[in-house]
Amino acid sequence: MSPKHVEAMYDVVIVGAGAAGLSAALGMVHSPEFAERRALGEEPSVLVISKLQPLRSHTGSAEGGIAASLGNVEHDDWHWHYYDTVKGGDWLVDQDAARLLAQEAPAAVINLERMGVAFSRTEDGHIAQRRFGGHTADFGQQPVKRAAYAADRIGHQILHALWQQCVAAGIAFAEEWYVTDLVLDEARTKVEGVVAFDTHTGAVHAVHARNVMLATGGAGRLFHTTSNSWDLTGDGMALALNAGLQLEDVEFMQFHPTGLAHTGILLSEAARAEGGVLRNAEGEAFMQRYAPGHADLAARDVVSRAIRSETDAGRGVADPKDPAGRRDCVWLDMRGIDADHMNEVLPEVVATIRKYANLDPAVDLIPVKPTAHYTMGGIPVTVDGEVYRWADGRRATVEGLFAAGECSCVSVHGANRLGGNSLLDACLFGTRAGRSMAARLEGAAAAPDAGDETVQDRVDDAAAARRTQVADLLAAAKVGADADADDEDTADGNPYQLMAELGAVMESALAVHCSEDTIAAAREDIAERIAPQAASLHPHSDTPAFNQELTAIWEVRHLIDLGSAMLEASDARHESRGSLYRMDFPARDDGRFLAHSMTDAEGGIGWQPVHIEDMPPQARSY
Ligand SMILES: Cc1cc2nc3c(=O)[nH]c(=O)nc-3n(C[C@H](O)[C@H](O)[C@H](O)COP(=O)(O)OP(=O)(O)OC[C@H]3O[C@@H](n4cnc5c(N)ncnc54)[C@H](O)[C@@H]3O)c2cc1C
Repeated sequence: MSPKHVEAMYDVVIVGAGAAGLSAALGMVHSPEFAERRALGEEPSVLVISKLQPLRSHTGSAEGGIAASLGNVEHDDWHWHYYDTVKGGDWLVDQDAARLLAQEAPAAVINLERMGVAFSRTEDGHIAQRRFGGHTADFGQQPVKRAAYAADRIGHQILHALWQQCVAAGIAFAEEWYVTDLVLDEARTKVEGVVAFDTHTGAVHAVHARNVMLATGGAGRLFHTTSNSWDLTGDGMALALNAGLQLEDVEFMQFHPTGLAHTGILLSEAARAEGGVLRNAEGEAFMQRYAPGHADLAARDVVSRAIRSETDAGRGVADPKDPAGRRDCVWLDMRGIDADHMNEVLPEVVATIRKYANLDPAVDLIPVKPTAHYTMGGIPVTVDGEVYRWADGRRATVEGLFAAGECSCVSVHGANRLGGNSLLDACLFGTRAGRSMAARLEGAAAAPDAGDETVQDRVDDAAAARRTQVADLLAAAKVGADADADDEDTADGNPYQLMAELGAVMESALAVHCSEDTIAAAREDIAERIAPQAASLHPHSDTPAFNQELTAIWEVRHLIDLGSAMLEASDARHESRGSLYRMDFPARDDGRFLAHSMTDAEGGIGWQPVHIEDMPPQARSY
């Protein structure tokens, strides 16, 4: 679906059509301000741009559940959810944001139910809930069933329900358009629009907008072993960096403990919630040793590090499909789960294991290893979704620019996200950002329009520069093809291969643990080998339409920008906290680092104090 024409000026442009982008669109159209404009016959112009058909967004792969203290199965309280979120995030969480998350979660889940999400049910018809790592009752006393679920297809349910509501509300989509630039005014105080490449035709569009929202998802593709789909290349974060903005806490990348060996595909935490147990080569259920009480359902960073300690100590098992025979996996033992129950509540997990490992979880042990899963850091936003820069010790918001979902950092996950909290973050803060944009619709008619020829049009300029770049890249493809025909050896590298090489570099630098040396080696490798290759990439076909190599080239360049920022921020944090474990600084250091890193494209880093309200930092034991 493409818009019939590109408007001269949009009221709102949303980049991304996962849970965050779609929630924002609905939050806006269901607002009183929107209804008011409509009643006056002034239909606001809204466009959702997505590089994928919306139903392919990664939200659709979420399996396990969405957290909310509904208390449908066991007594629960939002204060406990709030506490778990702060503690799970190793106290790098902004407590005003986490309080909101926990307090408003039940209403957000009920809202999803009203949108049409078909949750699994309890016997008496309530939304069913299951255990998830790090979620507890009575402030850490015992585990609690808090994750609302739909078998193991919660993301699929949410994505389809939200999309259908958007279609019903008449929202315009520009599908398979790739946003290449975010355009701000010169002082970086106000948004002006975006530049988008229509992959169907190869046309580059200047999209002027009074409000822009980035909802482009995470960046797991920075790492070779990842649970993330191919599109999660951190575009929105790189767009912000390249527009002169900062990223917050970008050094925190969550490794999920149970990636299916050799593929990295996620086996949901629900597998352990339903009774699955991790075992080392000696058959020991080792998590009891690392996190007594919580064992296999301790927070993800704790479990991933425990797996790494076991494999480093020689108690790992080899993935039968790894030709090198590395013993870098452990077993996931699901044999204790009743087979009928397993098929009923974990159908996707069972199907994934059958399809990709040719094993039967009812009788076989499954090789697993930590897989890059969730980007905790991102574009800094307030609880109303406004993007800001951290300068001179204060937040300076960028007028009209918003972000939500995995590409953003409202700082509810801190240094380590709890399972079930990210769909909640995307839906809840996405909706809030949509409402914030709606509140800005009122004054829109008074704002200056595009087309004033005395003012330099930065969106048009950026689009013109992209058109030139596209033409140059396509011309290079033609020359390259002719040269390749003469000499096989001159064939240039391809972006997918370079992405894989970058993934290997980042994995050896930062996966699960790191040190000054591993970071330095990666920086050098990127500067001397990867970045120059990326700069000389060109597509191998000179066709502008459906030329996927063109977008892959931009994606790999975005990954390099983002990976470099991640390495800088990891280097600057001389402590271990949550998902970032520095072997050379193994202790948490609240005296110096109870602060959010704010990293820019040049590697400059500022520190923003963590917003502590009523929970002073404590030691974290699981
Ligand atoms: C396998 C898996 C299982 C998960 N399970 C759970 C779970 O059980 N519970 C939970 O809470 N969380 C889970 N998560 C995390 C959660 O699903 C995500 O954090 C969340 O869905 C992200 O939503 P989003 O809207 O921010 O991004 P996405 O759903 O990733 O959507 C990103 C959108 O941005 C668009 N886009 C990106 N770049 C561009 C560009 N340059 N131009 C135009 N469009 C662009 C894409 O087309 C897409 O529409 C899981 C994640 C994975 C990978």
